[in-house]
Formats: sequence, C-alpha cells, structure tokens
Amino acid sequence: MSSIPEPVVRGVNEALQSQGIASGSFRFTATGGGCINNGGRLQTGHGSYFLKWNYARRFPGMFDAEAKGLTLLFDAHAIRIPAVVGTDVRDDYQFILMEFIAPAARSRNYWQALGRQLAALHSVSWDQFGLDHNNYIGSLAQNNTPAREWISFFIERRLEPQLKFGVDAGRIGKDVVTQFEILYRKLPDILCVEKPSLVHGDLWSGNVIVDDSGEPCLIDPAVYYGHREVDLAMTELFGGFERSFYDAYEEAFPTQPGLEERLDIYKLYPLLVHVNLFGGGYLGEVRSILRRFV
Ligand code: ADP
Repeated sequence: MSSIPEPVVRGVNEALQSQGIASGSFRFTATGGGCINNGGRLQTGHGSYFLKWNYARRFPGMFDAEAKGLTLLFDAHAIRIPAVVGTDVRDDYQFILMEFIAPAARSRNYWQALGRQLAALHSVSWDQFGLDHNNYIGSLAQNNTPAREWISFFIERRLEPQLKFGVDAGRIGKDVVTQFEILYRKLPDILCVEKPSLVHGDLWSGNVIVDDSGEPCLIDPAVYYGHREVDLAMTELFGGFERSFYDAYEEAFPTQPGLEERLDIYKLYPLLVHVNLFGGGYLGEVRSILRRFV
C-alpha cells in the first residue's frame, strides 16, 4: 500500500497537532524492507517523520507496545532511538509516527560506539525479568509477565510459547519437544545468572540503522528486561556486526567465560520465532543446536 489510508491521515494530523506541529499536506514515500507493516517517510511542511501502519485487528496493540518500547529505550539515553510522536487506532488501522532518521555514511568508530552504547543500555536494570506490558517479536506475541528467576522466565515466556505455536501449526514434531524438555533440565548448568538488563530484544542488523551523524540508531524493538546475552546471540545469529563491536562491548561490560555455548542456547528463541514466521527451513539449525546439548 503506497498511499496512506484516510483514517491514518486523520490520526497523523491530530498526532502532529497535539505536539504543536502544524499539519497540512504530506508527501509520503514508502520504504521497502519492512516485514509486516506499511511504512515510509512522511514529509510535511515542518520536517520529516517515519510512519508505519497496519490492520489493528490483526496485531492488537502492536504499535502501542512499540511506542512504549521505543520510549523506554529512548529514556535510557544509551543509544540513539527515534523519538515517538504518537500512536493511535483509527477505524480498521493502527499507526505509529516517529522521528525520521535520515541516513548518513557510518562514522569511523561506528562499530565501537555501538558496542559501548549497547553495553550502556544493558547496564539499565529492573528488579525482575520481563516488563510491565506484553509486546511482539516480529508479528508474534511476546509475553513479558515478570518473574524473579531468569531461567524459568526464558523457558516459560520465550521457548515454550514458540514451541507450542510451532507444534500447533504442525511445523515442529514431538521429537523436538522431547529434546527441549531434556535441555530445560540442563539449563541451570549451562546459563549464568546476572541481574536483569534492558534489552532491545530483536537485535538483528536490519534493526540497527545509521543516523544523520553516522552514529547507530536502533528501531523496531521487542524490549524487556532479560539476560543481556540474548541481544548478543541475535547479532551473531544473523550476522552483519563487525568484530570491533564485540570487542568494545566486552571492554565496556565483560561477559562471563563460556559465552559461545550460552549464545547457542539463546539463539534457539529467535530461531523458533523464524520457524513460526517463515517456515520449517530454520528447524535444521534448531536441531543442530539441540544435538550439541542433548
Ligand atoms: P517493520 O516493523 O515492518 O519490520 P521497521 O520498523 O523494521 O518495519 O522499518 C522498516 C524499514 O524502514 C527499516 O529497515 C528502515 O530502513 C526504515 N525505518 C524504520 N524506522 C525508521 C525511522 N525512524 N527513520 C527512518 N527510517 C526508518
């Protein structure tokens, strides 16, 4: 959809007006690359914004949760995050309007800066794992009901719901479920316990964009307080992050020995999400990780 539906236009006008920004006529340029939503650059007489919209009934509360997540990350003052202008539901549609990040070439120390800034984000803590609201990972629901204990949070709120979704959809067989059950019992010996960290939650390279000063900026989060290694696992799983990013992160916020083994465990969550979103092709990687531990 390259033109903005009328109810969204009305909502956007009101969101701009409520911020004291005079609205009026827009020019909209759709962006490719978004997996789920319609999105693009909205040029007004008073600057550019980034707008995303979709059908409200398909993904209830999606942009409300995205707005809260972006704001939580923004308020951490650790990494550039687009400021949210507004979000609303209008007729069949929901939308989110935020600051437009105009891309420039990466600065010379871009990857080191990202490593240091992610470490700063991860040093923001809470008294529990989870969050005060649920959100989405991609288009799938993510349950953030808080828990005091990380490993049971990771099993019950992350692995199990995705596994069940895959089994119910006929994508994941009982043999895989049995292997996960064996793995769960081993997790206390494999994973390490740390205090909760504010995590982006969906940190693949497509969700790190370059801002107008050549600095990193994070978009499209699936925020919660979790183990910081979940973000590192995601960067490694899908690649695109340079060595100097990991070195700068380690220097700023060292991880405990044995990281690689734990990252494999944390990759299981985004891999299951991918099985559920994109099909069984990702199951091979799930099985190969399970073979290493079970
Ligand atoms: P979706 O939720 O549909 O996956 P994203 O939030 O990932 O969509 O955005 C899709 C693309 O739009 C991104 O890859 C990026 O290129 C661009 N984009 C997203 N947010 C902004 C923004 N605030 N400013 C500029 N471009 C953005």
